[in-house]
Order: sequence, then C-alpha cells, then structure tokens
Amino acid sequence: MTEQTIFLNAKLADGSLVDLTVTDGRFRVITPAGKAPSVDLASIDLAIIDLGGQLVAPAFVEGHIHLDTSFYGDAWRPHIPCSNGFDVRERVAFQARNLAAAAPMDERAKNQLELCIGNGSLAMRSHVMVDGSVGLKHLETILAVRKQYRDLIDIQLVAFPQSGILSSPGTPDLLDEALKLGCDLIGGLDPASFDRDVKGHLDVVFGLAQKHGAGVDIHLHDGGTLGLFQVEEIAARTKALGMQGHVAVSHAYGLGDIPADALLKAGEMLAAAGVAIMTNAPGNHAFPPVAALRQAGVTVFSGSDNIRDSWWPYGDGDMLSRANMIGHRSGFYEDHELAAAFDVVTHAGAKALGLESYGIAVGASADFVTLQAQHVPEAVVAVPKGRTVYRRGRAVAKDSKMLVR
Ligand SMILES: [Zn+2]
Repeated sequence: MTEQTIFLNAKLADGSLVDLTVTDGRFRVITPAGKAPSVDLASIDLAIIDLGGQLVAPAFVEGHIHLDTSFYGDAWRPHIPCSNGFDVRERVAFQARNLAAAAPMDERAKNQLELCIGNGSLAMRSHVMVDGSVGLKHLETILAVRKQYRDLIDIQLVAFPQSGILSSPGTPDLLDEALKLGCDLIGGLDPASFDRDVKGHLDVVFGLAQKHGAGVDIHLHDGGTLGLFQVEEIAARTKALGMQGHVAVSHAYGLGDIPADALLKAGEMLAAAGVAIMTNAPGNHAFPPVAALRQAGVTVFSGSDNIRDSWWPYGDGDMLSRANMIGHRSGFYEDHELAAAFDVVTHAGAKALGLESYGIAVGASADFVTLQAQHVPEAVVAVPKGRTVYRRGRAVAKDSKMLVR
C-alpha cells in the first residue's frame, strides 16, 4: 500500500502557507494551505500532521565534520595549547595521544551523528583520517557506521591525509585503497606548509580523483599570499581537468586576509572553476568573506568541523547555530544577509555536495526540519530549538532527541 502523509499549514521561506503531500518519502504535491488534493483512502495508508504554521526548511547540510576524531559524549579532554603558536603537526601529535585513550570510535561517531541529526542535518560530508599513522583503520570503522545510519542520513566520506601525503610514507597507496573501499572524495592538507611541495601534493590528489572519478575537498589553513597561491593552483587544475562542481577548499583562511582586489580576482577564478569554499567562521582566524565570494558567484558552504576534539572544545552539531555564527562574524544584519547565512547551511551546502532532489519542492526527498520562527531571518538570529526532523517524510528526531535508530 502507498504510504502518504499530508503536512498541513507549513510555512515556507517565501512566507507562503502550504500543505505538503509526501508519498513514499518524496514531496508529490504542494498546494496553498487548505487545498491539498483528496485521496482514495482504500489504496493509501494516510497520515495527517498539522504543522500549525511552523516554518519548514529543507534539512541542514553538515558540509565538513570529522566523525573519527571527536570526543563528543566521551570524557572531557582539556585543550592543550601549542607550545609556540598554532602548529598543525603539534596538534596532530596531541590528537594521536588523545585518541589512544578515547572511547571506541564507533560509539563516538554515533554520538556525533545523532547530535547532528537531532539538530536537523540529514546530509553530511565527513573527513576521515587515512595516512601512514593510522592506515585504513579509521575508515573501516566509519564505513560501518555510515552503513548503519544510511536510512537516517546521507554521508559522504573524504579520505583525509591528516599527516600529509608526501611526508607520510605509504599514504598515496592508502588513499587509492580508501577510494576503492567507498570514499566519495579525496582530501588534502596544506600542500605548501605541510608537505612543502604544492605540485607533488596536488599531483597525487587530482591524479587519484581522476582515476576513481572522485571529488576533491582539501583542508587549506595557509594564510595570506601562500594560501591564495594554492587556491589558484587548485582552481586552475579543476578547470583544466573539467572537474567544475566537484572540488572544494575547506577553510581557505588566506581568502580572509588578502587585499580586496586580490579577493575579487580569486572569487572570479573560483566561480569560473566551480570550486566551492567551506568556512565554519572559526574562532580567532580570518576567514573567507562570505558575502563577497557569493557575490562573485562562488558556492560557499559550511560545517561544524571539530566538535570536542584535539583541535578545539567548541561545536554543537547545529548548522542553524553555525549560520548564526557566520552571520554574526560577517556583520550580517539585513534580512537578505541573514537569508544568505541560512542559504550557506541549506541550498548552497546541497550544491557543494552535489545533492540531488534537495529542497522543499515537488519530486524532492521529504527531508526537512520544522522551526519555531516567523521566517528565515528570525530563525538565524534566534536559533530556536524545539524542532522536529523528518527523513523521507518520517519523524526521526524531536527536541534534539532521536525517535528512531
Ligand atoms: Zn576539518
């Protein structure tokens, strides 16, 4: 029997009040409120839910997270500062020490996943360490967790060389194997400052991406001109290889501390190459100017990145509060700016991840979240809790708690 749910009185981002008819997990009919088509009850298993005018948004897109290295739900681990300014190698060493004493990885990953789902994220991109220090161990665990949660959330995995590619023996072969095992993308890490060989690092990343038809998402913390140079190199390769829409640079701090004219040029180059930029508006770092990049046509998306891990203790797995942070740090006050921050964690995220059938639209998968707000700008500034999260038309979480597992 066909399963159908009619959600009455849903408020959409444009302010309209509608009825949403969901059949077998997809939006089939969207009508003005009170105009939902009548159904033949003999052939349909029907449920009716009155949303009472709550704002309905497509499920959030968690575009950058680390399921393998978070300690969320585990014992509190006090942050250890670097001995002489931020140093990626030193942080990686702290992480190895912390992980050795942590709760089992699958438990920690599930804790984090349920936190994200409870807040309304139903699509995610997680980086997973694959390098000479841990081999494929992390990936094997996270692949199993992904499988277990596949009915609840769509997860893309990035083979992430946390200890570098050229400076961690055996890593290119491990990355190759990770893509065979089921990673959707290949990652990278500061080709200049970490491996000190931009060309060599990117040759491996883009070579394996081409070999496996995989996407690319590179961690780039390098600032200023050094960061900009690498962004340009990544954009040039993307364009040359015809990989527009399949490449992202995460963090790209450098875009946040270069002159306006250089940023304009970089924005045009990124837009033409179809390279997306991920920012989580982090603590005390300069970060990519969201409005200027969007203006240039660049897809800007976001993610929680680290939650209670060896890099920082913050993070709540809530992409609506992340939109708030992006808006706050970007100086967004006007409604259209607040709506832009919301777009970063919804539609722009879906575009960056290449999600098909996303949104509140006929034919799209009925993955959505109800928000107790008058409209999108209010949701971004107020970050209301009390949400219900629907996966394919079925409630899976309410008030930040899982209803199903
Ligand atoms: Zn990261």
